Amino acid sequence: MGQLNRRALLRQLQKLGVASRAELAKALGMSQPTAGKIVDELIAMDVLEEVADCSDRNGKTEGASQLGRPGRKLRLNESRPKFIGIQLGLHTTTLAGLTLGFANEDKWPVSFELPASEPNPAKLWEKKLRLAAKSLGEGDFLGVVLSVPGLVDETSNRILFSPNIHWTAKTHLAEIAGRVWNAPVLMVQEERALALGHYLADPSCDDFLLVDFGEGVGGAIIVEGKPLYNPLPISGEIGHTPVPGNIRSCGCGAIGCMETLISLRGLLESFAAAVPGAQNTWSSLHDYIAQNGVRPWLAQSLDPVAAAIAGSLNVLGLRRVVITGSLTELPPVVMQYLSHAVQNGAMWARFGKVECIAAPRRRNAGMVAVGIDRFLMPDEKKQPARN
Ligand SMILES: [Zn+2]
Repeated sequence: MGQLNRRALLRQLQKLGVASRAELAKALGMSQPTAGKIVDELIAMDVLEEVADCSDRNGKTEGASQLGRPGRKLRLNESRPKFIGIQLGLHTTTLAGLTLGFANEDKWPVSFELPASEPNPAKLWEKKLRLAAKSLGEGDFLGVVLSVPGLVDETSNRILFSPNIHWTAKTHLAEIAGRVWNAPVLMVQEERALALGHYLADPSCDDFLLVDFGEGVGGAIIVEGKPLYNPLPISGEIGHTPVPGNIRSCGCGAIGCMETLISLRGLLESFAAAVPGAQNTWSSLHDYIAQNGVRPWLAQSLDPVAAAIAGSLNVLGLRRVVITGSLTELPPVVMQYLSHAVQNGAMWARFGKVECIAAPRRRNAGMVAVGIDRFLMPDEKKQPARN
């Protein structure tokens, strides 16, 4: 019971940003002494802190409390990093010390590269991780949250298959990170972290498909504020939808996956083929689209994305897709085109509203949510194992 109340209180505070003891008690339907006792425990654990200022997370400042004195409010500890966050990318690994408070923007102050030709990537990764740990400095860390791409078994902390970073499936990354920090490690699938971060930023948006575009293309599904349960450790792999007529080889072993057309590399490859002589960089692609709009070669890559998204919305019974990553950095005409094409394919749009929302990546926030859930409230044994 205590653990359940504590979980509910932390969830509520994640949503509200800051709140008084009385507000928390009211929102949770607890007595003030019960809420106060949990709050005191969590302050003693350094999980919550008291603040005199009444700014909420959007920077708005509320007036003095109803009693006419400055209200002492509570928030998740933002003064000191409590988790180490690691994000594994195709070549770049980024790191940050993460506080328990909500981060509306991702910040990765430390990063390092692994060359594609490295013969022993696991060994070099550990070596560079140790150096990165020194740059992040000492701290009173509760654990390490490791965000990784691919098919992830979050209960056993293992990557089962990574289409774009094959070596990681043969390496126990969590064990390496655990050795470096001498702390417990949680592995989280990277799009799932993004989806949880988006939900924290906008708790009113509690049913959606998130699709992230970057080195690869992946998705995650949130239903009633939680990752959708599915029996296999595979979910949201929208990037590996086959596109008829596409003959590019994908890292997953198949030919013609949508990801090969719309990932950073895929788009640049199509750009180079369609516009010979153009500088093959992301910024020149950006400028080209700003001047020329969505030309047929680009539409050919966006149409299958929209079809896969619309198909997913139809199958899952969702009416909202959140787009993060590289596509949102291109001129707005790209999102407009995509949104229009999604509406065309989504059945719900015939008589209801279908939303296609561009949003920033909030992976830090999602990783903290996972860390709070699994390091600070490790129970819920009744629930099935989530992948
Ligand atoms: Zn594929």
